Formats: sequence, structure tokens, C-alpha cells
Amino acid sequence: MFVPTRAAGLEALADFVPRAGSAYARQRNVDTGLPRTNVSSLSPYIRHRLVTEREVVAAVLEQHSLSAAEKFVQEVMWRTYWKGWLEQNPEVWRRYRRDVAALIDAGSADTPEYRDAVAGRTGIDALDAWAGELVETGYLHNHTRMWFASIWVFTLRLPWQLGADFFYRHLLDGDAASNTLSWRWVAGLQTVGKTYLATASNIARYTEGRFHPQGLATSAAALSEEPLPPRSPIPSAEPAPSGRRVGVLLHEEDLALDSLRREHSFLDDARVVSLAGYAEPGSRSPLGASEAVGAFTVGALADGLARAAHGAAAHAVGAGSPDAVVEWAAAEKVDTVVIPYAPVGPVAERTTALRAALHDLGIAFGTARRGWDALAWPHAQRGFFPFRTQIPQLLAQQGIPASPLR
Ligand SMILES: Cc1cc2nc3c(=O)[nH]c(=O)nc-3n(C[C@H](O)[C@H](O)[C@H](O)COP(=O)(O)OP(=O)(O)OC[C@H]3O[C@@H](n4cnc5c(N)ncnc54)[C@H](O)[C@@H]3O)c2cc1C
Repeated sequence: MFVPTRAAGLEALADFVPRAGSAYARQRNVDTGLPRTNVSSLSPYIRHRLVTEREVVAAVLEQHSLSAAEKFVQEVMWRTYWKGWLEQNPEVWRRYRRDVAALIDAGSADTPEYRDAVAGRTGIDALDAWAGELVETGYLHNHTRMWFASIWVFTLRLPWQLGADFFYRHLLDGDAASNTLSWRWVAGLQTVGKTYLATASNIARYTEGRFHPQGLATSAAALSEEPLPPRSPIPSAEPAPSGRRVGVLLHEEDLALDSLRREHSFLDDARVVSLAGYAEPGSRSPLGASEAVGAFTVGALADGLARAAHGAAAHAVGAGSPDAVVEWAAAEKVDTVVIPYAPVGPVAERTTALRAALHDLGIAFGTARRGWDALAWPHAQRGFFPFRTQIPQLLAQQGIPASPLR
């Protein structure tokens, strides 16, 4: 269903753009099952930046006014919002990683209740079908993700972190910020005290009668947690120093080097002497990632590298350890390695070790952050609603013409 190339992402975008206006606003909450035409199914492409958020929004606003496409643009901005919020609250990610590891160590992913839930054997018709759909296709509709998470937490009373881990291991669009924070939102941790309760009537209505789940929880008391530390400043990007032999290392967070180059002169062709790619989909979880996620991620990386190299052979460093990357940098005699900025998540985690290993060899390290993120993230301090008011200004700053009416 999802081909891991930019060409396939652009094709899906072109196909969807005519439906991104009022049709999307009216119909987006319905999960029709396959084939889906009311939502874009673009998330696996956007998440790896085979197609960027900017491109998606610009293409939509070429055909629709901002008021007609407001809902769609807001959904794309949710993704940016979650990322900006997590950048400023990295403790949430650290705790999630720690909790998942501890729960797995303690055998919580080995109980009959957990095993039934992920194998689709709970007897709740909808949940069982969705678990199968997730494993088979690597995708679930947004409303379905909300229902699934709600039933997992409030009806099955399983740990939210293991539900998030199940999603993260199987979603082709699996994303540290959108996934973790959406699960927290359902559980009443993200907007403290506000939970999301899935009801049988809502599910029957928005699945067009495909499901009539029985025995769902009728109340949803918010989970609680230790208070979080205060928000921290967004880490600075590390602009690459004046290296003469720059090596660019692509990774699964951002595979659109051409547009990143247009924003950062230190990535221009004259100085970039070598390209490599390093993806490690298995680092999503102590239980690894599904085969489908592995294949999509590796395919997307190969596509990103081939485009970045403009057909020349780019050196694809296999997933494994930072050692292979260090060997590449040394063999290519680069004096600087630059990566697209990696937001909070597994890529940022492994970057820490890589930076230190390169430093030991006297190789400088830099990150290139997109204007899209740099402009929007600082606004992701409170809830989405104040963030949303910034959208027209952010689009203008990105040079995206957005007529209020057309
Ligand atoms: C429990 C839960 C877990 C989730 N996990 C992820 C995840 O791991 N990765 C992920 O990309 N999204 C996640 N989402 C958000 C959302 O469900 C998906 O982005 C969306 O369903 C993707 O389908 P689409 O491309 O057809 O969306 P469309 O409705 O066509 O939306 C267009 C684009 O907007 C963005 N978007 C839409 N809705 C959201 C949202 N609620 N939050 C953030 N971005 C959004 C996506 O990039 C999407 O491709 C999660 C939501 C929930 C409730």
C-alpha cells in the first residue's frame, strides 16, 4: 500500500489535493476502511520527510483558500506542534523510554491480557480488527487510533506506554512526538485531567456501522504521574563550522536533502564531498520494529540517498552502530559531518554517541534545522489552540501564499 519513495508520496499528494478542502473538513472523522479517500494517508511520507510539511501545505493552498483547507492545514500543524512541545519537554520522552523498558523487563508484555490485545483476541470486535489492520498495513485512521488507545487504557486497563509501544513498532508513520503525546492525551496526562472516552455509538457511527463493540468502559478517570520539570529551552541547532570537506549523513527523520540545502549554504554541493545514510528502525523499541516498518524505513533512506546524490553512488552505511558511520567519515577524510536536525526521539539519542565518537577523531559535527521547525516550535509552549492562532503568520514567514478566501 505504501511505496517508500518521494515519487510515490508526491503522487499521493497530487491525488489528494482536490479533496483537502471542505470535503476533508466534513468527512475526515469517518473511518471507511480501505480504500480511503477522505483522509490523505500521507503520514508515512511526511514523517520521514520524503515529502515535507511545507510542500504538502503549499500544494493544498495552491488549490484551496486557507479557510476551505483550514482543517487539513491544522492537522499538518498538529504534527509540528507535538514536535515543538516535546523538544521543550524531553523528560516526557525519557520517562516513556524508561517505562517501556521497565514494563517489558517486568513481564507486562507477556501477560495473557497483553498478548490477546496485540493479537486481536479480546472479543471486542473493533479492537480486534484494528490490531490486525495495524499489523498488516502499518497504518490506522486517526479516529481509530483515538478509539484504540482509549479502549486499551480504560477498558482493558493495560499500561498506556505498552499501547504506545505497540503502535510505534508497527506504524509506518511511527513518530516519537505524535505517538507518545497522543497516547498521553487520550490517557489524561497531556492535557492534565482531560481524557478521551471511546463509546460504542460513536464508533458505530463513524465506522459506518462496521463495528458495534460491546463492554466498553463507560468512564475514563485520568491517569496521573509525577509532576514534570519546567519546560526547557529548545536546544540550538549546531551550525556546521567552516568545513572544507563536509560529509552529510541522512537519517530517517528527514530525507529531503535538496530542500534543506536551499536553506543552508554550508550544505552546498561544492563542500559536500560524501553522503551516507544511517537508519535504525529497530531502535524504536526494546522489542524492535515490525518487518514492514524496517522495510519502509530502509527503502525510504535508500530513496533519500539516491536523490541526494543525484544518481551518483552514495555510501549507504548499514544500520548497526555509530562505528560504521565513524569509519565512513574517516575513510572519506571529511572534516565535518552534518546531519538534518534530529528532534527528540531515537535518532537524537544515537546522535549523542556519534557526536562524541567523531569529536574524538577531530571531526566537527553540525545539524541543519529547517525554517519550518525553527519558526514554529517556539510557539508550542502551551496548548494547540494558542499555537493554531500563529498559523497564518507562520505560513507567511515560510513564503506560502494563503488567500483567506478564494
Ligand atoms: C494514539 C495516537 C497515536 C498516533 N501516532 C502517530 C504517529 O506515530 N505518527 C504520526 O504521524 N501520527 C500519529 N498520530 C496522529 C494521526 O493519527 C496521524 O498522523 C494520521 O492519522 C495520519 O493519517 P493521514 O496521513 O491519513 O492523516 P490526514 O488526516 O490526511 O492528515 C494530514 C497529515 O496531518 C498530520 N496529522 C493529522 N492528524 C494528526 C494528529 N492528530 N497529530 C499529528 N499529526 C497529525 C499527519 O502528518 C498527516 O499525514 C497518532 C494519533 C493518535 C490518536
